[in-house]
Amino acid sequence: MPKINVVKADDSPVIKGNPAPLVDIRDLVVEFKTERSLVHALNGVNLQIKQGESLGLVGEAGAGKTTTALGILNLMSPQAAKVKDGDIRYSGKSVFQMSNRELLEMRGGKVSMIFQNPLTSLNPVFTVGEQIAVLLRKHMKMNRRQAMIEASKLLEMVGISGTRVNDYPHQFSGGMRQRVGIAAALACRPELLIADEPTTALDVTIQAQILELMKELQKDFNMAILFITHDLGVVAKMCDRVAVMYLGKIVESADASEIYANPQHPYTRGLIGSVHKIGSKKEERLFSIEGTVPLAMNLPKACGFYDRCDVRVEGLCNRAEPELVEIAPGHKIACFNCPHEACREQRARVEASLAGKSASTPEKDASDTAGRQKDTVKSIPGNKEDGRK
Ligand code: SF4
Repeated sequence: MPKINVVKADDSPVIKGNPAPLVDIRDLVVEFKTERSLVHALNGVNLQIKQGESLGLVGEAGAGKTTTALGILNLMSPQAAKVKDGDIRYSGKSVFQMSNRELLEMRGGKVSMIFQNPLTSLNPVFTVGEQIAVLLRKHMKMNRRQAMIEASKLLEMVGISGTRVNDYPHQFSGGMRQRVGIAAALACRPELLIADEPTTALDVTIQAQILELMKELQKDFNMAILFITHDLGVVAKMCDRVAVMYLGKIVESADASEIYANPQHPYTRGLIGSVHKIGSKKEERLFSIEGTVPLAMNLPKACGFYDRCDVRVEGLCNRAEPELVEIAPGHKIACFNCPHEACREQRARVEASLAGKSASTPEKDASDTAGRQKDTVKSIPGNKEDGRK
């Protein structure tokens, strides 16, 4: 794959030594109003992305990964989405308080996004070259001729002949359209690249090339990457840190090596246990997490994973929500049934508070109202503290 002759991005205030994270999401609560009900899409997301790091955001469909990503670009529909609480700061400034001009400068320039479906992000009436060139003209101040030459180099960079710069999106296959989307996203050397399942439509050889290319550019430009995926293999290859999301909350975050070696949350252990490992026997069955992510409507005050958790604690997990606590440097987890001191302290505090509440006002368990099944405590493979109550 030919290497593009890249121009270094201007030194931004962030690169010049701002110690604040590039993206700082604090206690973000977002609801969507639908005809039938309120959807609690994000329920207190806390996430930081530092300059130059790659963060993997993993979780099943419906966890809130894409909503979080769209929030960074302030692209959530203002008619449907309501930011109830919290904030997203980019380079220290709230994205919800940026002017239209600042937002336009950020989108496609400082922050780029590779969307899941290139058909919805490419305009069918313009050639792919024109669509890449318009970004280069706006953000890199190139003239039309320079921008088209650069667009053709960018196409070469993602494995498409530069001579196809004047072709329209419908003349490309699905995988090629995705590569065009990737070329457009990388065109302005963004500080942050948000990649939302970017390689799902690609075959494995192209996927490997694209991932390699993204890593190279990340190094060259000190670019941060937010990698949204459910492919834990890609996360292991690409990411320095991993945040696991479930029902609109981060439930565990840590360095990638730590999370693969020492997953603590039952959901993370389930996700990792469900990945096929090289060398495992043919007859060995993959672990599967029973059930599906519940609909994010009328959520009771309880751990969101309660119905699917094999180590849940009745009377606690169905009556209170665990907060993220740090159990080791950089390793955070939101679970009551974890042996680490910080989790035990949180559990003791919450149990004492629930006991106080029950004594004053007898309360009906969320599990009763939700018709949840009777509590059972089983083992999850690899959990040394299984069955702890
Ligand atoms: S043990 Fe309790 S708090 Fe932890 S994941 Fe299971 S249900 Fe949630």
